[in-house]
Parts: sequence; structure tokens; C-alpha cells
Amino acid sequence: MSDAEIRNDPVVVVGAGIVGVCCALYLLRDGHRVVLLDRTAPGEGTSFGNGSIITEEAVVPVQTPGIHWKVPAMLMDPLGPLSIRWSYLPKLVPWLTRFVGASSPAQVETISISLKALLTGALAAYDPLLEAAGIQDMVRRNGWVSVYETDAGFTAYKPMLELQRRRGVRFDVLPAEELRQLEPSLAPIFKWGVFYPDVSHTVNNYRFVQELAAAFVRLGGEIRRVNVVGLVQKDGHVSAVRTEAETVSCSAVVIAAGAWSNALAALLGSKLPLDTERGYHLTLPHAGVSPRIPVYSTERGFVCTPLENGLRIAGTVELGGLGAPPNWRRAERLYENASRWFPGLERREESRWMGFRPSMPDSVPVIGPAPNHKNAFFAFGHGHCGLSLAARTGELVAALFAGRDPGIDMAPYAADRF
Ligand SMILES: Cc1cc2nc3c(=O)[nH]c(=O)nc-3n(C[C@H](O)[C@H](O)[C@H](O)COP(=O)(O)OP(=O)(O)OC[C@H]3O[C@@H](n4cnc5c(N)ncnc54)[C@H](O)[C@@H]3O)c2cc1C
Repeated sequence: MSDAEIRNDPVVVVGAGIVGVCCALYLLRDGHRVVLLDRTAPGEGTSFGNGSIITEEAVVPVQTPGIHWKVPAMLMDPLGPLSIRWSYLPKLVPWLTRFVGASSPAQVETISISLKALLTGALAAYDPLLEAAGIQDMVRRNGWVSVYETDAGFTAYKPMLELQRRRGVRFDVLPAEELRQLEPSLAPIFKWGVFYPDVSHTVNNYRFVQELAAAFVRLGGEIRRVNVVGLVQKDGHVSAVRTEAETVSCSAVVIAAGAWSNALAALLGSKLPLDTERGYHLTLPHAGVSPRIPVYSTERGFVCTPLENGLRIAGTVELGGLGAPPNWRRAERLYENASRWFPGLERREESRWMGFRPSMPDSVPVIGPAPNHKNAFFAFGHGHCGLSLAARTGELVAALFAGRDPGIDMAPYAADRF
């Protein structure tokens, strides 16, 4: 037993987004003293405004084969589903090179296998946390449908459907009329739909994090609102976390700071290719339409999710870094697209938001020990799937921390894979 454990120093989790909160809850369940640090209140980072989808079908990485042909279009169309800000291009080149490099058919196949291993049991991993928080009713387990406006769009996606099939993802291809029967609120503009029954969504992703964080406190965890600025280290051990306000002694640390994790990982000597895929949302409290299930478009890169507080239209990718101001015309484009899907869509008292997906260039998160540090763990880089994978990540981090068999090979998620 280390001195820190004898002193009963807590495990410190940095970042109270959905990933950090789930890690903290799982560590608490294992009987550790846990302190969660964040400069904002729980769930106010990227976890605030996502599409609310919890999915186990996301085995297709963002960088699909042939993505390199799309790079010129990404640069030319600032409102496209996937766009790059010219001003950020010089900084983005190393990430973009890896992103394109990870898009060969062989790489995509391997990555989908790694994603599948992680995604399997992602929803089940939430179950004990939902029970502890008493919020089982916040998750709707009724699937989602992916829609295609053109035959060409559907045909182009078919190889990815085959990939999903090889990974055991369940889905039904629906011709236009069956799609209309499944989701009558949609305009008759679609050629095809693909229904995925094993997808869930939470009715309010922000309240979801807050409720889980409140359960963490009720069960004995502690949350402090502080900005973390340093890690005190000796002989490959982190003994304390330095904040602007205080120094918090720790027996171990988990870095779960989302898109801002790089600076903290660098303090431990890890230089990782983490960047951000910025995304936008509009939430329409009085939308006038309410789809039965979430509706998603791979062609346009966004989802419409029925929430308890309105219709959330969320998505698209903008590669532009953490510093640039939002381009709200992208949020307008979301509305324009969604209003074609749902005739009569109303936008009174809407709210809009931009968030920073924490994205690795291979679409695979970093989960596991920090190289060269026995008591530091990484849990970030979940990109498009942070809500889906948060509980699973917590489960895995707690297992690794306790020396339990995580049940899967963790090498694909290791920090030193680059
Ligand atoms: C438009 C959009 C739609 C999305 N839709 C979905 C979806 O439907 N399903 C899904 O699974 N995923 C979705 N995602 C992705 C998902 O939202 C993210 O992967 C997830 O929120 C990341 O969670 P996190 O806890 O890692 O990061 P965050 O929620 O960003 O939390 C990180 C926290 O760390 C804190 N922090 C950072 N640095 C420090 C520091 N130095 N000191 C103290 N605190 C610090 C921040 O304040 C923040 O609260 C979407 C993302 C976007 C942008």
C-alpha cells in the first residue's frame, strides 16, 4: 500500500463532463474516496449540448475510405457537413494527415473492430449508474432511423452498412413508404431509411449529467469547482493536483478533461494528437413537431432528437480548433435542413450552442494508464461517442485501476499507440 493510500488521499478525476462523472461514479462504487474537479459545473462542457444519442452501433469511424477526396470540398464550403477553417489549417495538418492516413479500407476495418469491442455493453454499463441516480426513465430505448434523401447518398453509404453488418450491428433497410410509416412526422422527401433498433437516447443530456453528478455527491463523492493547472509528480507517481486555488493530494488521477485534455496529458510527458471537431445545435422548445424517434442523416451529418425540453437539432463537423468564435451560420444551416424534413417546424425561443468534440484522428478514444505513470489514467478523445461510451469508459477505468481484467484487449485505446 502506498503512503497516499495509507493517508486515504482521494482519487482525483479532472473533468466533470459525462466521461469524468461516469469514471468518478465507477471509482466510487469500488469503494475509493473520489474528488471530481472542474472549472465549470458538471456537464457544462461538450456534454452540455450533444445529440443525446446513446448508441452501440457507431462502429464506423468518421474517416471513411475516400475521405481524402472530400478535403478540398471541406475547405471550400464553410457551411458543409464537414468543413475546415482555412485559418486553422496550418495547425491542423499533423492531425489531418493522421485522420486521412487512418481511412484506408484495412484501417477502417481494424478500427471498427476496436470500436465494436468498446461499444458492446455501452448501454448496460449505464444501468447501475441510472439505478444509483434513480433516472432509469431518462433513457428511451426505441432506436433511431438514418435517412437518405437521394439514391446516390444511400448507395454511397452501402459499404458502411456492410461494415456494420460484419460487426453484428442490427438494422433494417426501409424503402420510402416504410420509412413514412415508421416516422410519419417526416416530409415525403426521402428515398431510403435505415432503422437501428439497438440505439437509445436520453430525454435531456444535460440534466442527465447533472443527475449523475448529484448521485455521485449523495453517495459520498466530492465536487470542487476549480481550474487545474498542474500535476505534482515524483518518480513516475502523481502525488497531487495543483489548481489555481489549492493543491489537492491524490492517490491517483484520472484525466477526463475532454477536448482540453492535451495540456494535462503533456504534463505527464504524453504528446497526443487530440484535436476538436466542433459541432453545433439548435434546441427548439416549441418546434410544433415531435418525431417518435431520433432521425439522423449521414449525408448532412446531423440528428434531430426529441427531448423533454424540445427538439434538438445537432451535429456537423467544423475543424477549427478551440479558439475561433462560432460560425452561427452553421446553426442556421441546421435549421434550414431540418425544416425541409419537418414541414411546419417552428423556432420560437430557440437556443443555439457550439461545442468541442474531443477527437483523436483515428476516431478511437484514449482509455488506460498514462505511459510511465503508475497512478495516472487517461479517459478522453471520445469524439462523436462520448455520451455513448462514458459509462463503459468508467467501467474500464475502474477495472484497470483495481487490477481487474477489463475483459477486452486495451491496446487499441492505449495512449502510446501513436
Ligand atoms: C453537436 C454535437 C453532437 C453530439 N452528439 C452526440 C451524441 O448524440 N451521442 C454521443 O455519444 N456523443 C455525442 N457528441 C459527443 C459528446 O458530446 C462528447 O464526446 C462528450 O460530451 C465528451 O465528454 P467529455 O466528458 O470527454 O468532455 P466534456 O463534456 O467537454 O467535459 C470535459 C470537462 O473538463 C473540464 N476541464 C477541462 N480542462 C480543465 C482544467 N484544466 N481544469 C478543470 N476542468 C477542466 C471542462 O470544463 C469540461 O467540463 C456530440 C458532440 C457534439 C459537439
